[in-house]
Amino acid sequence: MRPFEFFRKDDIAKTISQKNDKAKFIAGGTNLVDLMKKNIEQPDYIIDVNSVLSTTVEVDKKKLRIGAMSKNSSVAKNADVLKEYSLISKAILAGASPQIRNMASCAGNMLQRTRCPYFYDVTTPCNKRKPGSGCSAKEGENRMNAVIGYSDDCVAVHPSDFCISLAALDATVITRNSKNKKEEIEFKNFHRLPGNTPHLDTNLPQNSIIEAIEIPKNNFGKNNAYVKIRDRSSYAFALVSVAAALDLENGKIKDSRLASGGVAHKPWRWYESENFLKGKMPTTENFSAAADLAIKDLKPLSNNGFKKEMLRGAMITALQNSLNP
Ligand SMILES: Cc1cc2nc3c(=O)[nH]c(=O)nc-3n(C[C@H](O)[C@H](O)[C@H](O)COP(=O)(O)OP(=O)(O)OC[C@H]3O[C@@H](n4cnc5c(N)ncnc54)[C@H](O)[C@@H]3O)c2cc1C
Ligand code: SF4
Repeated sequence: MRPFEFFRKDDIAKTISQKNDKAKFIAGGTNLVDLMKKNIEQPDYIIDVNSVLSTTVEVDKKKLRIGAMSKNSSVAKNADVLKEYSLISKAILAGASPQIRNMASCAGNMLQRTRCPYFYDVTTPCNKRKPGSGCSAKEGENRMNAVIGYSDDCVAVHPSDFCISLAALDATVITRNSKNKKEEIEFKNFHRLPGNTPHLDTNLPQNSIIEAIEIPKNNFGKNNAYVKIRDRSSYAFALVSVAAALDLENGKIKDSRLASGGVAHKPWRWYESENFLKGKMPTTENFSAAADLAIKDLKPLSNNGFKKEMLRGAMITALQNSLNP
C-alpha cells in the first residue's frame, strides 16, 4: 500500500474543507482499505468521517432517517426499523457477515465498488478501473455480471443488498457539498448506468459527503421480503436478489415495490411489474405474470443466461414470502 496522510477533524465543515481529488473519506474501511491494498485506490490523504457523522437512526411521522455513519448491524436490529421498515433490515442481514456488518457504515455500503473479478485483477483491462483500457468481462468470465442496463464499456453489477431496499422504498440521499451546503439526491438517481463512463458509479458530486439517508413513511412495513440467491448461503454477493413489498387493502394489492440486485450496474426497479400488480389479487398467477414482465427485457451475456429463470423464480418467491412475512 502507498503511504498516505491521515486526518480526523472535529466538525463536518472542517472535514469537507479537507477533501480534494487526492483525498478519500474513510468510514468503516471495509471496502476502501481492500482497494488501497490492491492499488486500485491510491489516495494521498485519508479523511476519517467517524467523528463528524451521525450514527443515529430516527423515526418520525414522515420518515426514517439513518445517519451516514450508522453501522449496518445497528440499523438491521433497530426496533423502529424492524417495526416499520423491516425490508431494510432483511436486506442488510442478507449481506456480508456479522463482523463486516459491525464495521460497515451505511454511506460506505452505498459507495462500495463492484465485485467484478477483473476490476480487482489489476493485470487485466477494465474500463471502470482504468478508463479506455477495455472490458475483460464482456467476452470473458461474466457469470456474475449484468443482464440489463449494461453498455459495451462495462457489464458490471452493483453489489449492495442494503441499496436494493433503499431503491424499493424511494429513499433520498442527504449530502453536503464542498461548500458545506446541504443537497438532496433521489435514490433512483444516485447510482449510474455505465454508459461510456463506467468509472463513475454514482452522481454524488465530487468532494461531497453523504450525511444521511431518508426513507419516506410508507405502507410496506408489514408485507415485504428480500430473496437473495448466491453461490454460498452466507458471505457471498448476490447472483440475483429481489426486494418485494406489498401494500394490501381489502385483499387486493393497492401498491407494490420490486427492486433487484445482481442484474444491473445500479439497483434496478421493476416499474412495469409494479404497475401490473396494482389492483390485482395477490395470487401466484399474478406474481408469475409480473415476473414474466420483468424478465422479458433481459439480455444475458455469454455465461449468465441462467439469471433469467433465476430472477423469475426469485421474484415469485419474494412476492409469495411478502404474504407471510
Ligand atoms: C468479504 C466481504 C463480503 C461482503 N459482502 C457483502 C454483501 O453480501 N452485501 C453487501 O451489501 N455488501 C457486502 N460487503 C460490502 C460491505 O458491506 C461494504 O464494504 C461496506 O458497507 C462499506 O462500508 P464502510 O463503512 O466500510 O466503507 P469504506 O470502505 O470506509 O468506504 C467505502 C467508500 O465510501 C466512501 N465513503 C464512506 N463514507 C462516506 C461518506 N459519508 N460520504 C462520502 N463518501 C463516503 C469512501 O471514501 C469509500 O470510497 C462485503 C464486504 C466484504 C469485505
Ligand atoms: S464489467 Fe466493468 S468492472 Fe468488469 S471488467 Fe468490464 S469494465 Fe471492468
